Amino acid sequence: MDQGLELKKIADAVSTCKKCELCHSREKGVPGEGPPNAEIMFIGEGPGFHENMQGRPFVGAAGDLLVELLDGIGITREQVFITNVVKCRPPGNRDPYPEELASCNPYLDRQLQIINPKVIVTLGRFSMARFIEQTKISEIHGQPVKVKGMLVVPFFHPAAALHRPSLRPVVEEDFAKLPGLIKNAQQVPVYKPADQIEDDIKAEQLSLF
Ligand code: URA
Ligand code: SF4
Repeated sequence: MDQGLELKKIADAVSTCKKCELCHSREKGVPGEGPPNAEIMFIGEGPGFHENMQGRPFVGAAGDLLVELLDGIGITREQVFITNVVKCRPPGNRDPYPEELASCNPYLDRQLQIINPKVIVTLGRFSMARFIEQTKISEIHGQPVKVKGMLVVPFFHPAAALHRPSLRPVVEEDFAKLPGLIKNAQQVPVYKPADQIEDDIKAEQLSLF
């Protein structure tokens, strides 16, 4: 597979996509960018004002902080793939609606398939929820889990650290874990949704009899 070509097909599809209402507020679609063989994939929420103008992810204030945090662990922006759960800007930067997330999801699925990153870093609660349900980011940030064979680690969104400066050291600590995470990817526990854990407990109890 020519990964670069496949990613380009997604970018082209996004630029003219009309699968959800967000196509109306789109100046430019923001498919994401980075090397097709990136080891790390960052997934944010959705394009903001600057991203919508430029067609590139994380080029505003949150992007500057992301680059600074990467720099702190010796990684450049050019080494990682950066994208979002919705590829077009929600008007006024409102939260994306469930139907918009659902409509856009196949693009992210395909990007994951093509790039097959060693580590997926979700930035903020919307991209965390794409992989890990019913949990609070404040409780599980920085803790890696395996989801359907993918290594996922939820981080706070950099914009959260901009709004709440007290979060900054927490965010820095999470970033500091990344290089080690890539090395020790095999040892990460498999994520199970709460209902599945309950089923497993029931099954174990049954097998006792
Ligand atoms: N915030 C996001 O979640 N994504 C971007 O691309 C920019 C800011
Ligand atoms: Fe299409 Fe996604 Fe843009 Fe909606 S947000 S129009 S699904 S590319």
